[in-house]
Amino acid sequence: MNRIDLGSTGLHIHPLVFGTLSLGPLQANLSAAQGARLIRSALEGGVDLLDTAELYQTYPHIRHALDGYAGEVLIATKTHARDAGEALRHVEKALRELGRDYLDIVLLHAMQTDDPVAERGPVLEVLLRLRDAGHIRHLGLSTHYVNGVRGAMACADLEVIHPLINRQGLGIMDGSATQMAEVIALAAKAGKGIYAMKALGGGNLIAHARASLRYVQQLAGVHAVAIGMLSEQEIQANLALLEGRPCTDDVWQPLEGRRRQLKIMTPFCKGCGACLEGCPANALTVGDGVARVDAERCVLCGYCAAACPHFLIRVL
Ligand code: SF4
Ligand code: SF4
Repeated sequence: MNRIDLGSTGLHIHPLVFGTLSLGPLQANLSAAQGARLIRSALEGGVDLLDTAELYQTYPHIRHALDGYAGEVLIATKTHARDAGEALRHVEKALRELGRDYLDIVLLHAMQTDDPVAERGPVLEVLLRLRDAGHIRHLGLSTHYVNGVRGAMACADLEVIHPLINRQGLGIMDGSATQMAEVIALAAKAGKGIYAMKALGGGNLIAHARASLRYVQQLAGVHAVAIGMLSEQEIQANLALLEGRPCTDDVWQPLEGRRRQLKIMTPFCKGCGACLEGCPANALTVGDGVARVDAERCVLCGYCAAACPHFLIRVL
């Protein structure tokens, strides 16, 4: 499989990126060993970029997967820090827990505006210092916003964009799928490396997984697609699909028959509203003392699970 240039970064990657969010405690809650087996299988199939984040709590899964693995593997992580000190702690923790001397890609997590300096200037400043000191190779941002992609285009130091895009526009906060696709194409033309997220709308488009993945992969400017994978069958099917090999019904029909949902353990909910703060899709409300989800808006990202101090939310 020929590698794809990730924009002007000089990195060359497989079109399938392993999204590790689904392995961790916010979603399937696999042990490090269980998650590592899946990651290792994908690496042996050709995947070479692993996507993670401070919030995902999947560094142990990745470290375990890379133990004794001889191939070259790139790691992209994200920091949701709001100040310089927190950003520094996030990078130090990633380096320590992943056992690496440097991080290949660090993204500003869940950016919302077209002005990264105004939104997270102090964080960007410390990340630039860490990059110049050799602890980070490339910077970028992840975003559910069309404006977020515009923000990366406005900043030469942000080389990689991890935008939310799917054919129904689920989870895009300030525009349509068409508008996001247009700005992604412009960003790629400007030299940004683009690997997409939520091609399946967090699971909401799983019944049409093949068509949904092809839609995103074929968009102008999308270099690769990050997918969370929880079985060997899923890994092999996604490898085949993104490599343009045949995808037969007998393989895909069971995968497209799965359903996912957000589970809030309402009998224990305190109604504190902390989960609302973590939701990038405004999908949660608190009423009658308990949190509730609007399934139409929810993209099953699991960020509310990280925000609940009582561990009452899971994506199943
Ligand atoms: S409700 Fe939770 S899982 Fe759904 S979009 Fe909001 S943060 Fe993500
Ligand atoms: S953060 Fe947890 S306890 Fe608080 S409202 Fe949300 S689900 Fe309930």
